[in-house]
Amino acid sequence: MRCNYCEWRCKMPASVCHMYEERDGTITEIYPNQWTTYYLTHAEGIPLFHGWPNHQFLQIGAFNCNASCAYCINSRVAIEPGRKTFCFQLEPDRVVKIAQKANCMGIHFSVNEVTVNLPSALAVAREAKRKGLVVGCSSNGYFTQEAADMMLEYFDFFNISLKSLSDDYYREHVGLKSVTPVMRNIEYLASRTHLEVTTTVVQTVNDHEITAIAEYLAGIDPQMPWHIFRLLPEYKMKDRIPPDIKEISDKVKVCRKILPNTYFSNYIGTHLINTLCPSCGQVLIERICAQSCGAFLSAYNMKDNLCPNCGTEVKMTGSFCDPSLTDGREGKVC
Ligand code: SF4
Ligand code: SF4
Repeated sequence: MRCNYCEWRCKMPASVCHMYEERDGTITEIYPNQWTTYYLTHAEGIPLFHGWPNHQFLQIGAFNCNASCAYCINSRVAIEPGRKTFCFQLEPDRVVKIAQKANCMGIHFSVNEVTVNLPSALAVAREAKRKGLVVGCSSNGYFTQEAADMMLEYFDFFNISLKSLSDDYYREHVGLKSVTPVMRNIEYLASRTHLEVTTTVVQTVNDHEITAIAEYLAGIDPQMPWHIFRLLPEYKMKDRIPPDIKEISDKVKVCRKILPNTYFSNYIGTHLINTLCPSCGQVLIERICAQSCGAFLSAYNMKDNLCPNCGTEVKMTGSFCDPSLTDGREGKVC
């Protein structure tokens, strides 16, 4: 019997991610409702720059992964031995109650790859939708078409990691066989849901691909939000040099002419995480880079997703959470 959640399509009892087994003729999660991490962030910290701006989300993740990136920033829970010891049990309704109590707009699955604990994630998503919350995930995008359809039933957004356009890169540095399923899923999701894409830049390894990736994404959606994440050497790549800020910034500026919603994450002080009007260049959304993928929204200058200067419409899903509005209690409306 095969597991069809991701493109490994493992034949049981072999399981690349060690998260599923065959039980009574069905593919079953070995560790249902087991999580390693949950914390609060804003949409900008996901990163989600064109969806539900300034709203708070509960981020939750489990452990293990179907990939083995040499630069994994979450290797302690995704790859390294002993990661199961970080686990705690939370049933779906409990996760949703925590999100509601924390005044969250929604729930975001991240930290590890959502595909390896998909039944638990879907159970949370189902309950969250029932309670009116928004749901989404960050993923390496190596899931099958069948899994994509299961997620699309409940998920409102995806941030897919496109690590390179090269199969060789995926084999050598990501531990996956090919980029083809990832590209197929990006193309499939782009017309069906809110999609943002993230690319981790590894100096001297994939930085030469930046422009080609911008062109590829622009061919799918000229307004696709794309986050170029500056890798600070991690895990097995600790001996690598960090990406050159000036070099990557120059490339991001070139990419913005191809794909206007290109951003440069993980560089404190950069203005390249602001959203500009693609027509007149007016600053529409200002953000402050915190650290890693983290960012805060500091000014929101759009109304009805239109540039106030020239009226150009800008891609945006969901409403802006305005912190100056209150609902009469102590908290914010959003
Ligand atoms: S989710 Fe895990 S068990 Fe299923 S195909 Fe992928 S790696 Fe194999
Ligand atoms: S896909 Fe993400 S969680 Fe999995 S190994 Fe790569 S960086 Fe780590």
